[in-house]
Amino acid sequence: MKILKIDHLGVAVNSIENGKDFWSGVLGLEFEGDETVDAQKVKTAFFPVGEGEVELLESTAPDGPIARFIDKKGEGIQHVAFRVENIEEALDELKQKGVRLIDETPRIGAGGAKIAFLHPKATSGVLVELCER
Ligand code: ZN
Repeated sequence: MKILKIDHLGVAVNSIENGKDFWSGVLGLEFEGDETVDAQKVKTAFFPVGEGEVELLESTAPDGPIARFIDKKGEGIQHVAFRVENIEEALDELKQKGVRLIDETPRIGAGGAKIAFLHPKATSGVLVELCER
């Protein structure tokens, strides 16, 4: 598996609108636009930072994964995403190594990227996303 870089940090927020006040208003990051991913009951907003991005995640439903995360832990960093050269190859390698996965096959995330999550039980508690764009 070849990891190319940290693609983005996923930050769970109650409100992207309020989140913009800090990430754009205070830190001066450019707001690149938002996108709703219905399958994951989430609205995402991207703020590019050098080679990577900050991704704000706001739940669109009370039972969505981001709403459940905030219920349990409060707002904050929810996942770290690594960009890989070939996501299918990466998932095959992880399966061979016995790593517990949330997604056995890639699904389509924001921006049409192919994404897959590793299980936090396999990663010292960090929700790791692989993405290929
Ligand atoms: Zn992400």
